[in-house]
Parts: sequence; C-alpha cells; structure tokens
Amino acid sequence: MVRTWFLLILLGLTTGCATFRLLQDKCPKHGIRLQPDEVPFSFGNIRTEPAYLEAKKKWFPDVADFAFGGCCPHYKDGPTKTLYFCSECRDAKRLWIASRMKSESAE
Ligand SMILES: [Zn+2]
Repeated sequence: MVRTWFLLILLGLTTGCATFRLLQDKCPKHGIRLQPDEVPFSFGNIRTEPAYLEAKKKWFPDVADFAFGGCCPHYKDGPTKTLYFCSECRDAKRLWIASRMKSESAE
C-alpha cells in the first residue's frame, strides 16, 4: 500500500499536473473531453477582476488559454506549456468578454 502511494507521488512529481489532469479528463461544466493545447506563459502580477474569476469558476472553468509563469519572465520551461482545455469553455469565455464589452460600450 505504501509502495503504491509512493509510486503515485513519484509519477506526479516527474510528470507534473498533466498526469492528474488526464485522470480528470472531462470538463466539469460541459462534460466534454479536454484537449491538449500549447499555450503561452503569462508573467508578472496578473490582476484579474473578481467578476472574471467568478465567471470563470461558473461558466468556463477549463478555459486554460494561458499558463501562469511566475513573477519574472523566463523561459526555462520553454515558451509554451501544454494545458488541457474545453472548447466550450473557450467559447463561453469569448461570449462573456463580448457581452462585457457590449455592456461597457452601452454605458
Ligand atoms: Zn467546459
């Protein structure tokens, strides 16, 4: 039993979160299979408004359109990272942004 846990932890450490992501291979919101994508890193203190975070959690939890790279720009892991995304989450994010822009322009 201890050996199994040790092997699972070792597997997670050597292959990263992608392994655990593959174990949960469907979007919890849309129920469709996640697809791999090479996304760019975003560096620095990324500020996101609370409305975005709330919408992401509720409507597009698996948008995965960029990877957090940390506070300082570096490319020790390469210029991109493989993340798993849901195509419907990306569509939902585009619609959410469009609706926000439309409501802001109407004000
Ligand atoms: Zn989704």
